[in-house]
Amino acid sequence: MKSIAIIGAGVGGLVTGNLLARKGYKVTIFESHINPGGYTAGFRRNGFYFEAGTISFEASFRVFKMLKDIGVYDKLTFKNHQYRFISKDYDYTPRTYDEFKNGLMNAYPKQINTLKKYFREVDALYRPMAAYMSGTKIGKYKAIAGLALLYFKYRTQTITEFTSKYFEKGTQLFRTLSNLGYPEMSVLFIGGALYSLFEDYWTVKEGFQAFADILAEKFKQNNGTLRLNCPVEKIIVKNGTAVGVQCKGEQIAADKVIAACDYKQTFLSLLESGTVSESMLEKIRNTAVSEGVCSIYLGLSLSNEELLELMKATVLMYDDSGHYINLQESVDDPAYFEKASFSIYVVSAKCATLAPEGKSSVMIQIVSSYHWMNNWCGEDRSRYLDLKNKVMDTILKRLETLFPGINNAIEFKDMATPRTYERYTKNTDGATSAWSWNLKNRFYNKVMGANVDTPVKNLYIGSCWAIQIGGLPGAINAANACVKKIG
Ligand SMILES: Cc1cc2nc3c(=O)[nH]c(=O)nc-3n(C[C@H](O)[C@H](O)[C@H](O)COP(=O)(O)OP(=O)(O)OC[C@H]3O[C@@H](n4cnc5c(N)ncnc54)[C@H](O)[C@@H]3O)c2cc1C
Repeated sequence: MKSIAIIGAGVGGLVTGNLLARKGYKVTIFESHINPGGYTAGFRRNGFYFEAGTISFEASFRVFKMLKDIGVYDKLTFKNHQYRFISKDYDYTPRTYDEFKNGLMNAYPKQINTLKKYFREVDALYRPMAAYMSGTKIGKYKAIAGLALLYFKYRTQTITEFTSKYFEKGTQLFRTLSNLGYPEMSVLFIGGALYSLFEDYWTVKEGFQAFADILAEKFKQNNGTLRLNCPVEKIIVKNGTAVGVQCKGEQIAADKVIAACDYKQTFLSLLESGTVSESMLEKIRNTAVSEGVCSIYLGLSLSNEELLELMKATVLMYDDSGHYINLQESVDDPAYFEKASFSIYVVSAKCATLAPEGKSSVMIQIVSSYHWMNNWCGEDRSRYLDLKNKVMDTILKRLETLFPGINNAIEFKDMATPRTYERYTKNTDGATSAWSWNLKNRFYNKVMGANVDTPVKNLYIGSCWAIQIGGLPGAINAANACVKKIG
């Protein structure tokens, strides 16, 4: 029986582990954290449950199929979000893409012609992505045909550049429409982002930690070994072939090693220098990663019903500042968090047991750079904590403007920065979705396919980093591709 060592118990590692253990391989997953899940996890503080990072996933056809293949689909319940959009110009809760478009046209009657032209172009990008994400074979072929035509036109245009063709930077319409995805995202993905938002964004009623725990449990039932609190410090390579891993000083032999974790870490610190070419290392060092996020976790004394009465949706997209901001250009701007838009998510709305009785848990998320204010004050812990508290106060002040009195209901508060995400998961710069979404600076030639091979024999990539644009479905894609390679 061949032995497999997997580094990381995120979705990528857990899915790969399950599929290989079921085939009879002797699989061990090494996870540095005390719980499985990586970015797809959750935690409780003072009785309030919060998602660690991701609050939803798209491409449900892939996620649900994976859960059915592993035999755990019926152990979880999936729910959609409802979105409310608020700015100084509008306040509405669209249920569909068409309602979203119509709402903007109603809010900006003077700009109706420009909006119509803008949406005509976006519709052309929406249709093939919607077909692809429907998960059917016909949809896939339709998408390939549709996107092939659009690929060369749009691949190097970011969503920010595309939006600025129609709307002046700094206007509310520019902010709203350029915020539909990551600012550096290629506009090719805008159709997918919109389709996900209104048709295919799912959350787990029991919380994402339950999602990870169920996969971990099934893996153990299939005789897999899950070693938590076990950071791998080295991938052992002999004559160009991976032959095991080193964890807490112990060397563990394996026939195959799967790095289901951060790509940069794998090549720049887990492999000994000289294992791969200097040119490859240079490329790895220089390729940009996706944007980070700050998450503020709030435990409130308001019940779910009271909070939802205020929110009128489970997720609220809030944009009150009216400034043009650019994430990259704002890395030295101390006022960034006074201007950035943010989302508010009622975590406990999906299941009352996620908060103490009569109370609720909420997450506020803001796209943020790891490099803001000199990497959040570098290694100086007390200045870092000070900065973090100031950011939290800034956002809570804005929340108070939106819902006067809400700050009096806060019983618990904490915040994760891109540094926190990096510390807990070892993902470089707290990258939320692997490599940069900007296709001008991509790591792989293929945009959507899984790239699991490495120059080291018997070493594979089993995390979302095998896909240019990462994501939870990306991690599943990587897991499937690893299993296919190993056979
Ligand atoms: C705030 C936020 C929002 C997101 N929103 C979405 C979304 O809407 N849709 C979507 O599809 N995706 C979203 N994502 C991304 C998605 O969560 C990830 O792409 C996906 O969960 C990645 O899974 P993974 O297994 O590839 O990697 P990870 O989740 O990063 O798992 C890697 C695991 O490896 C472990 N590890 C690392 N190094 C070592 C080591 N040396 N030894 C042992 N263990 C190690 C880590 O602790 C971690 O558990 C979001 C992420 C964040 C942070």
